[in-house]
Amino acid sequence: MEPEWLDRLALELPDAVVVADGQGNLIWGNPAAERMFGVSTADIVGLSALELLHPEDHGLALASLESVQGKELGSPIELRVKSGTGWKLVELIGANVIGKPPIDGLVWSLRDLTDRRRWEVSTNDIERFRSLVHNSASILLLLDRSGTVESVSAAITRMLGHDQELVEGQLLDELVIEPDRATLRSALVTVVDNDMTAPGPTVVEVALRRRDGATPVPCELSIVNLLDDPTVNGLVVSAHNITQLRSTRDALERLATRDALTGLPNRTLILDRIEQMQRGSRTGEAGAVLFVDLDRFKDVNDSLGHRLGDDLLRQVATRFRDALRESDSIGRLGGDEFVVLVEGAGAHNAETAAQRLLDSLAAPFSVNSDARPQLTISASIGIVSGAYSSAEDLLMDADVALYEAKAAGRNRALRFEPAMRGAFRARIELERDLRLALTRGEFFLMYQPVIALETGAVRSMEALLRWRLPSGQVVGPDAFIPALEESGLIVEVGAFVLHEACRMTRTWHVLGLPTAVSVNVSPRQFETGTFVEEVHRALERSGLDPTSLILEMTETTLMRDSRESDLRLAALKDLGVRLAIDDFGTGYSSLAYLQQFPVDIIKIDRAFIAGTAIDGPSAALVHALVELGNALGLETVAEGIETAHQLSRLRAEGCHAGQGFYFSYPLEAADAEFFLAAAREDVIAAGHDASLSS
Ligand code: C2E
Ligand code: MG
Ligand code: MG
Repeated sequence: MEPEWLDRLALELPDAVVVADGQGNLIWGNPAAERMFGVSTADIVGLSALELLHPEDHGLALASLESVQGKELGSPIELRVKSGTGWKLVELIGANVIGKPPIDGLVWSLRDLTDRRRWEVSTNDIERFRSLVHNSASILLLLDRSGTVESVSAAITRMLGHDQELVEGQLLDELVIEPDRATLRSALVTVVDNDMTAPGPTVVEVALRRRDGATPVPCELSIVNLLDDPTVNGLVVSAHNITQLRSTRDALERLATRDALTGLPNRTLILDRIEQMQRGSRTGEAGAVLFVDLDRFKDVNDSLGHRLGDDLLRQVATRFRDALRESDSIGRLGGDEFVVLVEGAGAHNAETAAQRLLDSLAAPFSVNSDARPQLTISASIGIVSGAYSSAEDLLMDADVALYEAKAAGRNRALRFEPAMRGAFRARIELERDLRLALTRGEFFLMYQPVIALETGAVRSMEALLRWRLPSGQVVGPDAFIPALEESGLIVEVGAFVLHEACRMTRTWHVLGLPTAVSVNVSPRQFETGTFVEEVHRALERSGLDPTSLILEMTETTLMRDSRESDLRLAALKDLGVRLAIDDFGTGYSSLAYLQQFPVDIIKIDRAFIAGTAIDGPSAALVHALVELGNALGLETVAEGIETAHQLSRLRAEGCHAGQGFYFSYPLEAADAEFFLAAAREDVIAAGHDASLSS
């Protein structure tokens, strides 16, 4: 054959042909090889064959090299070779002509498979893919390594309004809003650089511009480097709209920092803010923290039911927020506890804010379907300011101040003082001791007679609670009733009083010493849902005639929630017990309400009686109160009669009965029994009717 002709053949051959020496270094290449590798024939000489192969295919190439040893012709393999800046898929076949001049080397022929591979996918499949790509909700883009869009799916029009054709040929950057372009750029660089090492797609969030300039669409782009894949040869980007995802994510975030009931910042967030404020205060700008707790919310919640209780909390939250300044922030710690951060120094600010909160509760709330606002609630507030090492420490002191505000009568704000810590501990200890007293049976009752002023007969005995300390010392109720109320222990202790008073009185009846007994009922006790039941149980267990039981309540107790009170009082009347208003004249004393409630007895507070020794406003008041009682057909009892003079004045006013040191101090049960027996003898001796059953 003509050598020239062979040269010509090598020149025109569409397949790339290279010759390597025994070490795999290239010594010759034809023009097709030049085109395939993008390297001039001169530069091909001296290249190592491995340099032209994709690193992942080195193993394959070496194996094939081995297989060709000793044989004249190897079997064809497919591998990737460098082509300019990209890669081409080729079919390689080698021939071993080592030791056979004139070539004496390895001859490799490489055929470009890229185009063929592309078309090997059947037309049918292509159609299916195309349809998938174009109907996908996500935008799919093919980019070259510089980030220019080579093709884009139809979703670009649906999502953003852009024309596919106009986007193709542009940099992807053009689609991204200005501030997000740097993010995109660095992602593209990462993707291209880590071509082989990055295991999965690189994901970034950017906002894409709409054609009409409306709000950009937040998208998640996932970018895969398929530059090495000869069938793709580019970066594949899928962009999906994450507006929905974002709002869900935001909602979740809000959930973690917001209180679900009121929408206010929750405990986590508010503690965070306190700590921020504390850091701020070290640099000069102090603020104050208010710890707010609704008064007796638990009772309200129990009687309203939790749904309406929640509704009340929401309304309270709104009023609080409206009462505060823009710069103050409020959060809910949980239950009926709120925390307010008052920014800026000025101790006065905190007190003013606290007063605004208290005032905001003044108007009654409506919590059920009927529009009439009928429920009132107050709050107590503890105020703290100054440097603390943690938000928890700060709240602890705020809690102490809050506790003091409650103890001082609620519906008020108190600023924390270090001295309060001692008082707080003392009260905590008192509560613990009271709990123990209940289990150890250290409570007992004393009885003070109520005397009919006309006849001197005993009309009833008032049961008065006492606490005998382990030391033997006896403590009166004023020292511990507030703590019993505050802790809720009053419910159990009150039940003890009821049962014990009924039992004792029944025993006296059996002994032939008939008397009624009156029992003091505290507000907290009366508001408990089980109160009527407890009274019923005490009567049943003791076998006491219900008309022999008088329940004493103050006006304040009755007025607390008139609707509920009405129902409870009616139920008590149904049991047959009698009701007395204790300390009458010190509360509302409205005529309307005396008529509204099924009251039998009014007990005129001893403050008025003490004043009757001299003529003055008290004397006139007692006169008016007795008149009022008579006009309404109620029995009037004067409390705290200490002198014969007071007694004769009250008798002259027409007051029915009296109680006080003049007749008797409160007596232990045995002494009370003796008193009853002696009084019966006196009355019999004086020839009066001793019937006390009314
Ligand atoms: P109260 O119901 O008004 O009881 C009358 C109080 O006046 C008793 O005080 C009694 O010892 C006192 N007293 C009676 N006569 C005179 C007098 O002539 N002069 C003076 N200066 N005081 C007199 P006590 O026993 O210390 O009870 C104080 C309050 O504690 C009672 O006022 C009542 O509100 C409450 N209390 C007593 N026992 C109970 C109880 O079992 N449950 C509840 N919830 N409260 C109770
Ligand atoms: Mg009383
Ligand atoms: Mg009283």
